[in-house]
Amino acid sequence: MMFGRESLAGVEDLIHRAYLNKLVGEEGLRIVDNIPEEEITDERLAEITGISLNTVRRTLYLLYEHRLAKYKRKRDPDSGWLTYLWKICPENFDKALESETKRLIRKLEERMDYEKSNIFYACSEGCARFVFDEASETDFICPFCQGSLEYMENSKVVDTIEKQVKYLEICL
Ligand SMILES: [Zn+2]
Repeated sequence: MMFGRESLAGVEDLIHRAYLNKLVGEEGLRIVDNIPEEEITDERLAEITGISLNTVRRTLYLLYEHRLAKYKRKRDPDSGWLTYLWKICPENFDKALESETKRLIRKLEERMDYEKSNIFYACSEGCARFVFDEASETDFICPFCQGSLEYMENSKVVDTIEKQVKYLEICL
């Protein structure tokens, strides 16, 4: 990130939250908010949040896959059962964000190639958009509503994608 860590800590926090929200959803975010700095079991998290143990576990493993959480196994001396003690890894957030940003840029660039290398036709009634080959196969008639398919300029779409890519590159 190019932001100053101290001065814009709030912004960074917002970006992290937006990223987390996309990854684990609103319930997941509530789970993350309830993980204390010291470790906690999945059962205890389910108790505190009132969210089902299944969802808590799914969220924790999703975070684990992205290296945003880690766990330790411990055997309960009384029951002999294994308990999992979970912890968040805040130090890995920047890295996770960086690879997510790179993934987005790759996807946008693929989309941009697609837009640049095709000619588009759209239904005049707004049903859908088709590439030239599809449109010519149906004699430029919409397969959904029989309306006519008309040439559609897409340079604005390309411009928008280009701007998004530039913006994301600044974030890296
Ligand atoms: Zn149509």
